[in-house]
Amino acid sequence: MPSVIILGRPNVGKSSLYNRLVHRKEAIVYDTPDSHVTRDIREGSAKLSDLRFKVFDSAGLETSEEGATVLARTTGLTATFLRTCHAALFLIDGRAGVSPLDKEAVMWFRKLNLNLPVVLVVNKAEKITGDHQIMANIAESYSLGLGDPVPVSAETGEGLADLFQRLQPILDAAKEKLVEEEEEEEKSLGGQKPLRLAIAGRTNVGKSTVINSLLRKERVLTGPEPGLTRDAITIDFEFNKKPVRLVDTAGWIQRSQLEEGPMALSAMLARRSLMTAHVVAIVLDAQEIAHSKMTLRNSEAALARWVTDEGRALIIVVNKMDVLKGQKNADLRKKLMEAVPKEIQLTLPQVLGVPIIFVSALKGRGRSTIMKLAFEAYDKWCTRVSTPRLNRWLHKVLARHPKRKDEKRAKPRYITQVKARPPTFVLFVAGFYSLEDHELRFISNAIREDFNMGGIPVRVIQRTKK
Ligand code: GDP
Ligand code: GDP
Repeated sequence: MPSVIILGRPNVGKSSLYNRLVHRKEAIVYDTPDSHVTRDIREGSAKLSDLRFKVFDSAGLETSEEGATVLARTTGLTATFLRTCHAALFLIDGRAGVSPLDKEAVMWFRKLNLNLPVVLVVNKAEKITGDHQIMANIAESYSLGLGDPVPVSAETGEGLADLFQRLQPILDAAKEKLVEEEEEEEKSLGGQKPLRLAIAGRTNVGKSTVINSLLRKERVLTGPEPGLTRDAITIDFEFNKKPVRLVDTAGWIQRSQLEEGPMALSAMLARRSLMTAHVVAIVLDAQEIAHSKMTLRNSEAALARWVTDEGRALIIVVNKMDVLKGQKNADLRKKLMEAVPKEIQLTLPQVLGVPIIFVSALKGRGRSTIMKLAFEAYDKWCTRVSTPRLNRWLHKVLARHPKRKDEKRAKPRYITQVKARPPTFVLFVAGFYSLEDHELRFISNAIREDFNMGGIPVRVIQRTKK
């Protein structure tokens, strides 16, 4: 999905526009420990007519003090982040008109020399007909040199159709380019689609050691080098003659920390690099788990949830098991091997059967099992089930499900898989009632179980007449 960032000085309505565009309310919020940062950086899935894209609210990048934006205290990281976006919406306040801060922000943006398409958006432009002041302000906004302004009102939604018109060609071009890049990558690997495997986790859990162990005996084709999308370091290698592209978030975080900037941004970048993966392996540290009360840190649980919410296949790698070797550690080892699966299940009740593997990267143990699980997860993630088979299955499964007697019961009639990677199904429901959440969950769990897709985020969307 292409990404769009909303820029502009404070109070022009960036957050309001963000809220209007984001259709799912549970946005990702990046913590910003930096005290100068007044708000969080938010990332959400936006919907504008039939355009889907990621949208970032840069309001969190503002400093409160001078009322200036971080735009003023540019960092390499901010520019690095902007380079990964496909369009920017530059907002100004249509009631206040063009201000010196707007001009400053435009100057800052120009200096970055990003080659990023910008749409000038004049916000707070509700009921503009006959409003001379706002018409004058819109006219004045041409002086910013960002082309034709699009008047909108984040508050009422006026003008969003025009914004759609302007964004559509930009994002279509961006999508085309993304596809081209993917094809280029495929070509460079001899026509075979590589498994994209990301190794994620907190610092010091052993990600780099895991990567080294995976590569030890393999033919490394390229890398480490920055990925095509520039938001990850990737390494290409072959495992049993099958191409793999490793996405190394550790390397990325280390590299981006060399540059200055709010930590939240580097966290955001690391997540974006995870988005390019098919399978994400989260590495946990057995030594740490054995010596603390917590099995999963909050950040690890959040990461695992995020990975499945984003539709990636997840595997868990519990590393450093060598530390718990020997008779005297038998109890600790047993406890840990029971606690981790239990905790993963509690954290991800919607995805049963996430594969968990216990390894020692330092001793080189478990490396081929990691790859085996990754390929299995990938195959499951690519599963396609034919419509006749699905419908035969649906009728059996509905017979299995305890029926509610009342007339208002929703009646699923027909199911079809609309896409794979991750497997996504549309369930057609007759009548005017829709299935409740727990009924939908029952269906997706049953699909996962009956079609061997353990650990895979299976999506079921219902269509009713309503
Ligand atoms: P940000 O600092 O750029 O994120 O701006 P906010 O989204 O927090 O909005 C700043 C103020 O402008 C708030 O009081 C909003 O209610 C107001 N505002 C935002 N959008 C509109 C709009 O379309 N019309 C009007 N009249 N007010 C708006
Ligand atoms: P990263 O920050 O997640 O990339 O972690 P590193 O790969 O740099 O490893 C952090 C530390 O853990 C290093 O001192 C490694 O030697 C150590 N380490 C990594 N894997 C293992 C393992 O399997 N067993 C033990 N005992 N130590 C490990």
